Amino acid sequence: MAEIVIGIDLGTTNSCVAIVEEGTPVVIPNRGGYKTTPSMVAMAENGKRLVGHIAKRQAITNAENTVYAAKRLIGRKWGSAAVRSSIETMPYRIVEGPHHDVRIMLRDQVFSIPELSAYILQEMKILTEEYLGEEVSKVVITVPAYFNDGQRQATKDAGLVAGLDVIRIINEPTAAALAYGFGRNIERKVAVFDLGGGTFDVSILEIGNNVFEVIATAGDTFLGGEDFDHRIIDGLVFDFQEEHNIDLRKDKMALQRLKDVAEKAKCELSSVKETEINLPFIISTGRNEALHVQTKLSREKLEELCDDLVKRTLDICTQALQDAELEKGELEDVILVGGMTRMPRVQQAVTQFFGFEPCKGVHPDEVVALGAAIQGTALTDTECDVLLLDVTPHSLGIMIVGGYFHKLIEQNTTVPTSESHTFTTVKDYQTSVKILVLQGESDRAEENELLGEFILTGLRRAMKGEVEVDVAFAISADGIVSVTAKDLETGLEQSITVTATSGLTEDELRDMIEANQDHMVDVQSNKEFDKAEHEAQSLLREIEKMFPDVEQIISGSDFGQDAVTKARIVCDKARSAIGAKNLPVLLECIEALGRTSNMFRGVVSKTR
Ligand code: AMP
Repeated sequence: MAEIVIGIDLGTTNSCVAIVEEGTPVVIPNRGGYKTTPSMVAMAENGKRLVGHIAKRQAITNAENTVYAAKRLIGRKWGSAAVRSSIETMPYRIVEGPHHDVRIMLRDQVFSIPELSAYILQEMKILTEEYLGEEVSKVVITVPAYFNDGQRQATKDAGLVAGLDVIRIINEPTAAALAYGFGRNIERKVAVFDLGGGTFDVSILEIGNNVFEVIATAGDTFLGGEDFDHRIIDGLVFDFQEEHNIDLRKDKMALQRLKDVAEKAKCELSSVKETEINLPFIISTGRNEALHVQTKLSREKLEELCDDLVKRTLDICTQALQDAELEKGELEDVILVGGMTRMPRVQQAVTQFFGFEPCKGVHPDEVVALGAAIQGTALTDTECDVLLLDVTPHSLGIMIVGGYFHKLIEQNTTVPTSESHTFTTVKDYQTSVKILVLQGESDRAEENELLGEFILTGLRRAMKGEVEVDVAFAISADGIVSVTAKDLETGLEQSITVTATSGLTEDELRDMIEANQDHMVDVQSNKEFDKAEHEAQSLLREIEKMFPDVEQIISGSDFGQDAVTKARIVCDKARSAIGAKNLPVLLECIEALGRTSNMFRGVVSKTR
C-alpha cells in the first residue's frame, strides 16, 4: 500500500487537513470535532505556545501576543505595501528581520513567519497522526495561485520547520478543481472563484480524462475577508471618534474586540438582514467613565461598504478569461471556494458575471484540503491516474540595460518549464555581469518583484557585445524558480535557487539598478528585432513631428483629443517595447503606429 500523504490547506483564517482513505478523500476533524482550525498562534504569559482554537479563545485578553492572518505576511519583504498595511492594522508587533524580511515579536521572542506557520502545520500533522494512529511525514500544502516564488519558498520552509516532507506545493483553486472533478469522469471547462480570509484567486481549468489542466490564473494576494472586516472596523472607529473624540485603534485590546465583532457581524449578515454590534466597556476615559459601542449594521450597508472589493474580484475574473482566451459562455461551471463566498452579495455578483448559478456540490472550507490529499495520492500511488497541469501565475525574467525587464517565461505557461536566452555585455572590457531575477508583468524592472541576484565574474576582457552569457531559468512543479548563468566561452557557471530570505525593498532595488550600470547585460542582437526597431523609430519620428500641427488643428474637438491621447499611448508603448526588446509587442505597435501616422497625415494635409 502506498504511503499516506496528507493534504493541508494552510489558510489565512482557518486551516484544514485531509487524507485519501481507501480511495475516498476525507477531512480530519480536530479535537473539538471541527473540520477547520483557526490559523492562530499565541504565546501565553507562562511562555506556552498555543495553536488553533485555544489561541483564538484568549485572543482578546492577549491581543499583542496572538498572531492571526500571518499568511498575509509570508514571503513578503520588509517595507512592501502589504507589510505596511499589516503594521497599521494588526495588534501584534511586526518587526524587521535580518534579511529585510518580516518577523513577529511575541513577548520577548522574535519569530519568522515560516516558523509561526510551521506551528499550525505541526498541529495538522499531529491531528492526522492521532486519527490514524501512525506517524505521517509526507505532505502536499496548498498556496494561493497568485503567490510568487518568495511566498511559495517560505511556505515550503514552514513545512520543513514542522518536520514534514513537502512533496509538492499546489495552488488552492487547482486543488479545489481536483476535488470537484475527482472520480466523476467529466469533460468541461470550469472556473474556480476562491475568496478566502486574505487572498483572492480565480483559475480557469479544462478537465477531461482525469487530466486537470489550468489554462489561466489571476488574483490578488491582498484581497480577502480581512479587508471586508476592516471596512466594518473603519466605520466603527470613525463613528466612535466622531462621538467621543477617542481613537480606538490606539488600544490593542479594543482593536482585537472590534476585529472579532466585525467578523462575527459580517458572517451573521450572510444569513440575516440586520445584526447588532455590542461592545460594552470598550474603553474607559481618563475620568474613569466606561464607554461602549452599541449599534446596528444591515446587510445593505455592509454591501455598500464592500462594493469596490467585490468589483475588484470581478475585474480579476475578466482578466483571467482574457488570458485564457475564452468567453464566459464557454464555461460550464463555477466552483466557489473560501469562506467569503458564503456572502450573498459575492454569490450574486458571481452569478451575474458568469450568467449562471455557481456549483453547489463542494464545501468551500474543505474542498482545497481534499484536493491536496488527492494530489498527494496521485504523486505516490501508481494506481491513481490523475494528472494535474498547472501554470506559473507571473512572468519571469531578468533586468537588462536601461532598467528594463526582459521576460524569459511568460505568465500562464504550464509548469514545470525551463527556458534559456543568450545575453551579451554592454560595455567594453566588462568582466562581470549581475543577474537580477524578477517576477512580474511590467516592462520596467523596478516595478516587478525581485526574487534574487547573483554575479558572474571572470568574463574575458573584450569589446561590448562580444562576450555571451547564457541564462537558463527553470520553474518546478511547485512553482519554485532556479536560475543558472553560464559564460559560453569558458563554461564558467553560477546558479541560485532563489530564496525567500534574500528579500530587498523596492527602494533598494531602485538603488541597485542605478549602482549596477557597469554590470549590466543586454539582449543578444537579433536581426528581426533590429529591423522592427528601425521601422518603429522612423514612424515615431514622423508622428512626433506632426503632433504640434495635429493638436492645433483638432484643438477643441473631443473626438480629436481622444485620438491624440490614444496616439501618445501607442508611442509610449512602442518605446517601452523597444526598451524591453519585446518583439511581439513591438510588431503590434508598428501596426498601430502605421495607422496613427496615416491618420495624422490625413488631418495635416486636409488643412493645407
Ligand atoms: P478561508 O480563508 O477560506 O477560511 O475563509 C475565511 C474567511 O471567510 C474569513 O474572512 C471569514 O470571516 C469568512 N467567512 C466565513 N464564513 C462566512 C460567512 N458565513 N459569511 C461571510 N464570510 C464568512
